[in-house]
Amino acid sequence: MRLSDRRSGEIRTGIGWLLGLLCLLLSAAALAGTAQVGRDVLLLGAATADQTPQRPCPPDVLAQHQDILSIPAPAGGWSGAPQAVDVFGVLTGEVRISHGDRQICGNMHDARTRDSRFRAGVGMVVVPPPGEREPIVVSWASPLKSRWIPTVRLGAPSPVQQNDTARLLVRAACIAVAIALALSALMGFASARDRTFLYYVAICAVFVLWQAVLGGLSGYPEPWLPVHGRATWWLVALTTVALALLLPILWRLNGGARLWPGSRNGQRAVLWGLVLVGACVPWMGVTGLLWMAAGLELVFVLGCAVCLGVGVWALLKGDGYALSGLLALAPWWVLIIADAMQAHWLISYRIEALQLAATWLLMMAAYALNLRLGRLRQQRDEMRQLADTDALTGLPNRRHGLHLLTRHLARANAEQQALAIGFLDIDLFKDINDRFGHDVGDQVLVAVARGLRGAVRVQDDVIRMGGEEFLVLLPGASHGAALARLENVRLQMAGVAAPLGIAGLAVTVSIGLAVLRPGRDDLAGLLRRADHAMYGAKRAGRNQVCDGEQPLRPDDPLIA
Ligand code: GH3
Ligand code: MG
Ligand code: MG
Repeated sequence: MRLSDRRSGEIRTGIGWLLGLLCLLLSAAALAGTAQVGRDVLLLGAATADQTPQRPCPPDVLAQHQDILSIPAPAGGWSGAPQAVDVFGVLTGEVRISHGDRQICGNMHDARTRDSRFRAGVGMVVVPPPGEREPIVVSWASPLKSRWIPTVRLGAPSPVQQNDTARLLVRAACIAVAIALALSALMGFASARDRTFLYYVAICAVFVLWQAVLGGLSGYPEPWLPVHGRATWWLVALTTVALALLLPILWRLNGGARLWPGSRNGQRAVLWGLVLVGACVPWMGVTGLLWMAAGLELVFVLGCAVCLGVGVWALLKGDGYALSGLLALAPWWVLIIADAMQAHWLISYRIEALQLAATWLLMMAAYALNLRLGRLRQQRDEMRQLADTDALTGLPNRRHGLHLLTRHLARANAEQQALAIGFLDIDLFKDINDRFGHDVGDQVLVAVARGLRGAVRVQDDVIRMGGEEFLVLLPGASHGAALARLENVRLQMAGVAAPLGIAGLAVTVSIGLAVLRPGRDDLAGLLRRADHAMYGAKRAGRNQVCDGEQPLRPDDPLIA
C-alpha cells in the first residue's frame, strides 16, 4: 500500500469517527431536550406589554425621500374595506407608507422593521373609514439606477399578501438551490480532488450572498449580514465579484476555452481585475457607485454578447458542449431585451427574475461540472485499467497480480479456505523467438494467455508475471484438485499453437504448484515455493507439473 493511500485511509477513518461522535452528541442533545419538556405542550416566548412592536419612523426620514407617491381615494371616497399596500424593489433605505395619522417605515434588509404580514416587500394594511378621501402616501429615497423602478401593489390584503409570500418563496428557493449545488460540488471535490469544484463552490457562495442582499433575505428573520445602510455598496461589490467568477464560466461553457486554449491568461486577468475593482467598492462615493453599476451592466452585456458569439461559433464547429453555454445565457438575453424595452413584468419582478436567471446559470454550470466529473472518472478508470493490464495479452500484469494474490491470501486465511497457485513458464521460448521470429513469439504469448483463461474457472485468476511466465491463482482448490487442474492446463497448452498454423511450432509449459499452508506461508514464501517447483519441472525434463510440496533434494542448487 502506498503512503498516500494509507494517509487518505487514515483521514477517512478519522472523518468517520468524527461523524460518529457528532451523531452521538446530537442523539444525546435530542434526548436531553425531550427529557426537559415532560408535558404535552412546549410554550416558547413570553407575554409582551409592547402594543406596537413596529419601530417608529426615523424623524428625518421624509427629508431623505425624493420620491413620493400619493394614492388617491376612489371617486366617492374609500369603501371601508381594508387596503393592503406592498412596495417592492426599493433596495436601499427606508420605505414609508402612511395614511392619515398612521404610518410605518420599513427597511428591506431588516425584517424587524416591517409589518410581519409582508415579507418580500415593505407593506401595510390600512382600513380607511367609508367615504373618507385621505390618500395613502408612499415615499422612498431615490433608487440607485434610473431603470430600477420601485413597484407599489395595492389591493385586498389576501391576494397582496399571497403575492408577497410567493415572491419570498422564490427568493428563498433560489438561495436554497445555490446552497445545495455548493454542497454537491463539495462532495464532487471530495471524490475527484479537482480544484474546479472548489471554484464552483466559491461562485455559489458569492451568489448566495448576492441573492441574500438583493432579495432582502440578509435581514430575515434577523439581520445576519452586516448590511445596515450600505446595501447598495454590498450589492455592487458582490455583483462585481459574481461577474468576475461568472464571465470565465460563461466563456468556458460556450466553448471559448476549447476554441482558444491560450485564453486562460485573459480569463485570469478579467477575474482578478474585477475582483480588485470589487474590493474598492466600499470606499466609493455615491457617484462612483452609480458609474460602477452602469459599468458593470455594460461589462455584463458585452460579456454575454461575446459568449453568445463564441457559443454559436463553437456549435457550428461541432462542439456540442457549447449548447449548455448558450442555454445558460438564454434567460439573461431575455432579461437584457426586456430591460431595454422596459417590460412591466421585469420592472415588477426584477429581483425574482435576476435570482431565477442566476440559479439557472448555476445549474447549467453544475451540469458542465458533472460532465467534467464523468470525464475525470472515465480517465481515471482508463488509467487504472492501463496500469493494471499487460498490454500484449490483456491479462493482469505483475503489479496487479500481486495485489490479487494478496487479496486471495487474506481471504483464505480469514475464512480458513484452501488456496493453490501455479507458476507457469513456456518451455524453450527463446528458441521459438529465434526460429520463428519475435512476432510469432508474441502470438504464442497471446495464444497461451487466451488458452490459460479458457482452461481455468471464472473465479480463478491468470496473471502475466513478465516475459513468458504466468501465474494461475486457484482459490478454494485443495492440493489434489489443484494438481489435477494444473495437469489439465498443461495438456491444453499443447494445443494453443495449432490455430496459428505455423509448421513445426510446438508449445509446452512447465508448471510449479504451491498450496497455501495456513499460518506458515506469506505471499513471498508461497511464490518462492511455486517458483522453485517450476524450476524443478524444468530440471525434470520440462512439459510437466511439479509439486512444490515435494521437499527439494539436498543437492538442489535452488537451496542455496
Ligand atoms: P526455459 O524452458 O528454461 O524457460 O527456456 P526459455 O528459452 O523459455 O527461457 P529464457 O528465460 O532463457 O527465455 C525467455 C525468453 O523470452 C527471452 C526473451 O527474449 C523472451 N521474451 C520475454 N518477453 C517476451 C515478449 O514479450 N515477447 C517475445 N516474443 N519474447 C519475449
Ligand atoms: Mg522464463
Ligand atoms: Mg521459458
